[in-house]
Amino acid sequence: MGPDGQPELIYQPTGCMHCENAPCVKACPTGATYKREDGITAQNYKKCIGCRACMAACPYNARVFNWGPPQHIPSFEDDHIGDARVPSRPKGVVEKCTFCQEKVDHGEDPACVTGCPAKARFFGDLNDPNSEIARLIRERGAKTLLAELGTKPTVYYAPPRRKLDIRTFEGRVYYGE
Ligand code: SF4
Ligand code: SF4
Repeated sequence: MGPDGQPELIYQPTGCMHCENAPCVKACPTGATYKREDGITAQNYKKCIGCRACMAACPYNARVFNWGPPQHIPSFEDDHIGDARVPSRPKGVVEKCTFCQEKVDHGEDPACVTGCPAKARFFGDLNDPNSEIARLIRERGAKTLLAELGTKPTVYYAPPRRKLDIRTFEGRVYYGE
């Protein structure tokens, strides 16, 4: 309920939590899903046999099975859609959010961070107490989801701000601090 006692709708997008103690990694019989040194839970599509054990093990429902061949965008350059550095996922493998590791490897933020019009997402080094992300988690009291399961997610959710400053410009909506 909102502060006025009325029902309130809050969006909580979920994806891979890039768990430190990842059940999907333990469940995978081929090593197709693995932890990178930087903490990203990654996927090697060449090693994936599509058994879906990782999907059953993931408590966040963060994985999907590819039932069909990749639907290729005709031209990344012309249409400015997607990122040509990201490999297409063949039919019969499991995929999930990779934090856009191809961008991260080049010092860029994931596409969800750069593309969010409300600037609601942040990406950074949780091990650096002086990083912006570590400061935001501290100051906003951000929490992980299903912490009681011991998966140690590295994705945090800050409580919603009650007073949103909503502005419009040329018919489009922007959200201020
Ligand atoms: S959220 Fe699911 S897919 Fe992502 S690391 Fe955790 S167990 Fe694996
Ligand atoms: S579907 Fe692929 S990634 Fe998932 S457990 Fe099986 S081999 Fe590993």
